[in-house]
Amino acid sequence: MKDSTLYLVRLGEISLKGLNRDFFEKRLKQNIKNKLKPYRSLVTKQKGRLYFEVSNECPEEQALMAFRTTFGVVGFSKCLRCEKDIEAIKKVAAILIKEPPFASGEGTFKSETKRADKLFPMNSYEIDCELGGVVLDAYPSMKVNAKYPDKVIFCEIRDMAYLYTSPQPGPGGLPVTTAGKGMLLLSGGIDSPVAAYMMGQRGLKQECIYFHAYPYTSELAQEKVEKLASLIAPYLQGTRLHVVPFTEPQLWIREHSPEDEHTLMFRAAMMKVANAISLKQEGMAIVTGEALSQVASQTLESMAFTDSMSDQLVLRPLVGMDKLEIITLAKAIGTYETSILPYEDCCVIFSPKHPLVRPNKKSVTEHFVSMGIEPLLEKAIEETQTLDFGPDGNRRE
Ligand code: ATP
Ligand code: MG
Repeated sequence: MKDSTLYLVRLGEISLKGLNRDFFEKRLKQNIKNKLKPYRSLVTKQKGRLYFEVSNECPEEQALMAFRTTFGVVGFSKCLRCEKDIEAIKKVAAILIKEPPFASGEGTFKSETKRADKLFPMNSYEIDCELGGVVLDAYPSMKVNAKYPDKVIFCEIRDMAYLYTSPQPGPGGLPVTTAGKGMLLLSGGIDSPVAAYMMGQRGLKQECIYFHAYPYTSELAQEKVEKLASLIAPYLQGTRLHVVPFTEPQLWIREHSPEDEHTLMFRAAMMKVANAISLKQEGMAIVTGEALSQVASQTLESMAFTDSMSDQLVLRPLVGMDKLEIITLAKAIGTYETSILPYEDCCVIFSPKHPLVRPNKKSVTEHFVSMGIEPLLEKAIEETQTLDFGPDGNRRE
């Protein structure tokens, strides 16, 4: 393809797949292509690699974001390719090292060749020596350091020769949608966006559900959740946010259940609604940001009770994680700064001072049923509004 830039994409777990590898590769290809739109891109496949030729009309930042946010990509790099001929390879290397990180002409380096094509007449060591020579000819003050080099020039001999210098990490995992679809309970906190990321990494597409208790929670709280949805949308190949008006059910619970059970009843009601929305949207699981014993509603007893409100699988990818680990991940995926904005989420405002920590399932189930909250939940589902976010994170009308 003319006027294009070539990117090499490294695959990890996908390459280990057996007969269904094609299914995963096709999905990954499509997921990346969706993010390169509306620009032209051409894909070719080699063992453990995909090569994307991307039209130069596509802004580089857009291309980089596409690779950085697509699960299934283990690593990627901009690269140059040429015929499998050592003179051609040396010429390309000379061009490559005019760019950063080699352009400064200083520091230490090494050359690392992978010879997938064993018929190529030179072995990896011989190719490395030739490439080292190219670098030293151009930059005589650079030094070779095989163990701890500042810079590396990579060369792969496959159907053609591929050269690159700056491999970058991708998010790993499996392409989104290969595992089906779930519903994420997205609050404004730190945890749930991280949960979305972790399940996305296992290939699960997710729509988001947010329970909004206006005016007890402000419009700013909803805006914050919308912002979080837009931040996780690229990882999820786009997402839909369902905003459930939850003021009436919350007030009902406050009046019709014992104070120490309020949070549990909110949770149960949320789970019921999430289950219904998931069935409507053909989801197969509910995802939450709960972690064992983080708060009263996340003990084994409490979670077993809320689980019983859904007949779908409830996935809690953070269940065994420490809060600091979750925060580190939230920072890495870029949701932390938004999550810590100070607008409170509805459960915080309606929280009892001394919540029940180890509920008796039979008795709280009876309390939940006897409240007669069903009609209010049905009304909330009916009045739910949806917002769509594209794979680029932007709102779609
Ligand atoms: P934090 O980081 O403060 O723990 P959190 O979002 O995890 O934030 P929790 O009260 O621990 O807050 O809630 C546990 C889980 O329940 C959340 O991760 C989320 O999946 C779900 N949840 C809580 N409140 C809401 C809400 N208003 N709308 C949708 N889901 C919610
Ligand atoms: Mg939490």
